[in-house]
Amino acid sequence: EQAEIGLIGLGVMGANLSLNIAEKGNKIAVFNRTVEVTKKFYADAGALQGQIIPCETMEDFIKAIRPPRPIIIMIKAGDPVDQQMDLLKPYLSSGDIMIDAGNANFRDTMRRFKSLEGSDLTFIGMGVSGGEEGARHGPSIMVGGTEESWKRVEKVLTSISAKFNGEPCVDWLGPNGAGHFVKTIHNGIEYADMQMIAEIYGILRDGLGMSAPEIGGVFGRWNEGRLDSYLMEISEKVLKANDPITGKPMVDVIVDSAGQKGTGKWSVIEAQNMGVAATAIEAAVAGRVISSLRSERQAAEKILGKPALVDRPKDGMAFLADLELALLAAKIGAYAQGFAVMAEASKEFGWNLPMPTIAKIWRAGCIIRSQFLDEITSAFTKDPNVANLIVTPAFSQLVKETDGALRRIVSYAALNGLPAPALTSALSYFDAYRRGRGTANLIQAQRDFFGAHGFDRLDGVDKHHGPWGSGLADFA
Ligand code: NDP
Repeated sequence: EQAEIGLIGLGVMGANLSLNIAEKGNKIAVFNRTVEVTKKFYADAGALQGQIIPCETMEDFIKAIRPPRPIIIMIKAGDPVDQQMDLLKPYLSSGDIMIDAGNANFRDTMRRFKSLEGSDLTFIGMGVSGGEEGARHGPSIMVGGTEESWKRVEKVLTSISAKFNGEPCVDWLGPNGAGHFVKTIHNGIEYADMQMIAEIYGILRDGLGMSAPEIGGVFGRWNEGRLDSYLMEISEKVLKANDPITGKPMVDVIVDSAGQKGTGKWSVIEAQNMGVAATAIEAAVAGRVISSLRSERQAAEKILGKPALVDRPKDGMAFLADLELALLAAKIGAYAQGFAVMAEASKEFGWNLPMPTIAKIWRAGCIIRSQFLDEITSAFTKDPNVANLIVTPAFSQLVKETDGALRRIVSYAALNGLPAPALTSALSYFDAYRRGRGTANLIQAQRDFFGAHGFDRLDGVDKHHGPWGSGLADFA
């Protein structure tokens, strides 16, 4: 019996995704560049072996799949995907679909999609989130491609996806690069969420002098409230874990330099390209960059000194309550920004991205899964074309309830020299976004002064330059 789907690339994600596909009753053919990996994968597949056809050559792999063939490519992103597609193409026949499930840059996805246009092959760019566990037991899956090709893979993808209250966390989000773009922004939001949790951790550790397991306890309690989320849950677990070698809290022996693979940076670059302010996500990416300058930071601490703690919270319980609300408020800012980037991209690339659906399929399976995303789903379902999440009735109310706490926490951090760039950015974003009369009138005047760029007047009078003197060039 032939397989209904094929998968190339039995690394961490591909292997787990294959087992998931097999376990849900789908027959799958698998192939990996290095043959030993395929052999080991099959040997370890246990009871699922009957659903898996391990293939050592491309010829066997293609023969093992029933045409028209959906083939998932789950390998290292970038050039390897183009190389793999070039190797695969000569074997394919009419109607076959190549599905790139790696973390591709959506611009590559658009190029790959275009390169097959007019041929009888199609391409799907599919974002998969949830890490190893998600891939194995139910990831969140963001699909981009033609609606027709989605219909062909809908059944199998629905069977393997995560479920939130029974609803599958997979959907078709739009043509060509839409799925990978949404995955990129998912990761940008993930960066911000993680950075904000780390900033709160910093305030508790360096401001209040709390130990890792104590902070884990605080996060555990928050995880039972409105901050209920996977990232909060794993932060608690991580903070409570001890290093088997030294017996110390695990986090206390981990180097404070964060790695990154690029998706956070891409989301910031695309936001900048489209002129969308994604300041909390930018702060998170910059936070990782500064974290990686460990020896420079240590040298600077010697030269400049570490700011002194000048202000201890008087009421510990009230301070913790503020921290919890501050994190919620800041999270709203980061998610609002991420969704604003997607709204703009939707216009720019003509994708017609469905905001409520995106929030919906992020509620389970992916790294940013949370109860909070269910609230976002409701808000966008009621008002899918709203300009910004924070002006929906539910979230404007929530911002009003929480931004005071965020303001107090950001002030506390600033006074005590504790870095909180993402929390601070979220607060400044709220403050700037809801100020009807801003300060760019001065910037326009400056621009007109040195560059004769002109300005508009509030009274509509048709005069567009200021009285800065004749011969503006003299001032240049
Ligand atoms: P791994 O490093 O575990 O596996 C890499 C796979 O890519 C291996 O099967 C490897 O084959 C294959 N490969 C590398 N280069 C080539 C090439 N030139 N031609 C053919 N095959 C090649 O990666 P992951 O499973 O972690 O990641 C796979 C993709 O999924 C990436 O795009 C990643 O960004 C994305 N992703 C990862 C997540 C995670 O949590 N790890 C989460 C979501 C997405 P070989 O055995 O021969 O070396």
